[in-house]
Amino acid sequence: MIENEHVIELLDAYALGALEEAETNSVEAHVADCVECWNEMTTAQEAAGLLSLSVAIHEAPARLGERIISTAQRETSPVPIERRRGFWGRFSRPIGIGAMGVASVAVIAVGLTMQQQVDDLEAENAALNAELRAETFALEQELADTEARVAEQEILFAVSSDENAQEFAVAPRSGSVEGSASYAYSPDARQGVVECIGLEPLPPGMLYQLWVESDEGTHPMATFQPVDGECLVTMSLGYLESAPTAIGITTEMIPGGLDEPSTPWLLYSEIPQD
Ligand SMILES: [Zn+2]
Repeated sequence: MIENEHVIELLDAYALGALEEAETNSVEAHVADCVECWNEMTTAQEAAGLLSLSVAIHEAPARLGERIISTAQRETSPVPIERRRGFWGRFSRPIGIGAMGVASVAVIAVGLTMQQQVDDLEAENAALNAELRAETFALEQELADTEARVAEQEILFAVSSDENAQEFAVAPRSGSVEGSASYAYSPDARQGVVECIGLEPLPPGMLYQLWVESDEGTHPMATFQPVDGECLVTMSLGYLESAPTAIGITTEMIPGGLDEPSTPWLLYSEIPQD
């Protein structure tokens, strides 16, 4: 090759590394002194870069394909058949022990990274599940509270709107008892409301408990802690087979766990029967 002859038609192959060593040297010697070929080489190198991203925008000279193929054939040594077997046979190029070592480390590293990602996702999932359970529990509590309030409001409405409702005081059983209570009962709805005023606060672990007596026995109705001495307790008595005959309030340590009051009546009144 004459050094002052332009090398434009070799530049695409040069940019792809597909030239013989002698041609490579000639191209490099020429472009060092030729602005035109230098510019062309820059273009070819940009095209080669894009080619590696599978975007061919540069029309290759007729012989380029042949050059690339022959160069590739020259650089690829025959692959021993044993190497193709097994896991490493998936690689299309022959892999030396060193390369296999690097590949193994890379595969293990990728495996560890993926395992870490799986662990992270599982941890994240567990955290989200715990959060979801907590939120579900909170919502269930809120729903139960709301349902209880709605049921309470329904009873209050039923009793207060019943023209035949009976109302009377639940009287203290001794002069030393503070507070008072009243009881309103709707015979039609078979629901009642107890209101208290001026009840003493109780020591920790103790609650007031409301009871109703009937011919069947004594029935625990509700436990409550007064707020500022006051209470508003609603009762559904529909499950009783006979009409309530008396109503009373005691203080208890084990709320709801007793069939009979364990302390004397604090407030108590018989219910007038029609
Ligand atoms: Zn030139």
